Amino acid sequence: PIIPDYLAEVLRDVERDTSGERAGYIPELATADPERLGAAFAMTGGEVYGAGDVDTEFTIQSISKPFVYALALSDHGFDPVLARVGVEPSGEAFNEISLESDTGRPRNPMINAGAITVHSLAGADGLSPTARVERVLEGLSAFAGRPLRVDEAVCASEMEHAHRNLAIAHMLRSHNILTEDPRAVVDGYIRQCSVLVTVRDLAMMAATLANRGRSPLSGRQVVPELVVRHVLSVMFSCGMYDAAGDWATQVGIPAKSGVAGGLIGALPGQIGIATFSPRLDVHGNSVRGVSLFERFSSDMGLHLMEIP
Ligand code: GLN
Repeated sequence: PIIPDYLAEVLRDVERDTSGERAGYIPELATADPERLGAAFAMTGGEVYGAGDVDTEFTIQSISKPFVYALALSDHGFDPVLARVGVEPSGEAFNEISLESDTGRPRNPMINAGAITVHSLAGADGLSPTARVERVLEGLSAFAGRPLRVDEAVCASEMEHAHRNLAIAHMLRSHNILTEDPRAVVDGYIRQCSVLVTVRDLAMMAATLANRGRSPLSGRQVVPELVVRHVLSVMFSCGMYDAAGDWATQVGIPAKSGVAGGLIGALPGQIGIATFSPRLDVHGNSVRGVSLFERFSSDMGLHLMEIP
């Protein structure tokens, strides 16, 4: 088993790095076991290779953003979504309270301002907040190839301390970027972030993107191929927030991180990769996750700009 042996070896190498902190602003996340560590590769043919904590559940957090963006694009088409959320890297933190000065649009769908707007665009127009969350859960489950559920404790914990996301949503409402009740949208967005996944699920979700939007597990076309190209492009330029430029040059894989410690990468046509380790760097990206991806990229020549 060449791949699992390789994965186990790389995990051992990064294990000793105990730098970084768990996300403290969501109290429930600060109780996670900081030593958890896992990595998995999912092939577009459906095979999954993993090592470490591949079946430990944790909340998806911001890794939901590219997938729900894909759902919104396939539910509405490109124009209505692009009219509300841009595709320019912001170079700012994920929870920055900032909008484009001329249009009032959030700069991109990977920062919270954009993702909160995108949540309101998942599913048909006029859905109730509950039906919208159902659409999101069903869509994330289709990407994973199995039914996913919400961690109610993490959801309640984040909602209690959601002042910053509420401020962002109210500002979006004042610019008419959001047209619904800001509180209901933030509530739905936080439920979206509280969906439980494993490293195995995340690798499969990334492999569904790598596989042109078709789940390697179920064979279902979850979103159209053109949507996938668009989403992977935005992940490449914006997926790692204010570390996106470093990531694009050093790792060179379309990616997305979450504050529970998950990290995914998707290599078009080839592979979905996922890692989990809860301690985060100053950008809110998993410390060991970033190290693992740096290793994967250099050991296997995965950088997309590398000329073979
Ligand atoms: N739910 C988190 C928030 O809105 C997600 C942030 C993240 O994973 N970067 O703050």
